[in-house]
Amino acid sequence: MSNEPATTGESLPETDEEWRELLTDEEYEILREQGTEPKFSGELLDEDDDGTFVCAGCGTELFSSDTKFDSKTGWPSFSDAADENIEFRRDTSHGMERTEVVCATCGGHLGHVFDDGPEPTGKRYCINSAALGFDEEDA
Ligand code: FE
Repeated sequence: MSNEPATTGESLPETDEEWRELLTDEEYEILREQGTEPKFSGELLDEDDDGTFVCAGCGTELFSSDTKFDSKTGWPSFSDAADENIEFRRDTSHGMERTEVVCATCGGHLGHVFDDGPEPTGKRYCINSAALGFDEEDA
């Protein structure tokens, strides 16, 4: 596993203070404060092995490598998600109208989803690398 998740869904922190102890500064800023990592900075941006992308906060399975594509945006991008494990929120910050993508298990901010992705879904999940861990499939 690269970028080992901070905890599991069974033992989620209850306070911001606990999250702060478990996460790196960058992970905390993104997952708990809706931050965004600099484009082209993410460790998992060019990850192209087969496997599953999980929440860096709690390890919940979020995206399959089968849906990862190169969007040229500088952030890991996926055309589909594990629907039962994510939630959407309307985000009107920064003068934009966007759909925020959140981990349904720990409430961590992952990124946003846009309607300009590839077929068949037409979706582009634009996700912070620092909000993800990667569980490589056993060969
Ligand atoms: Fe999570």
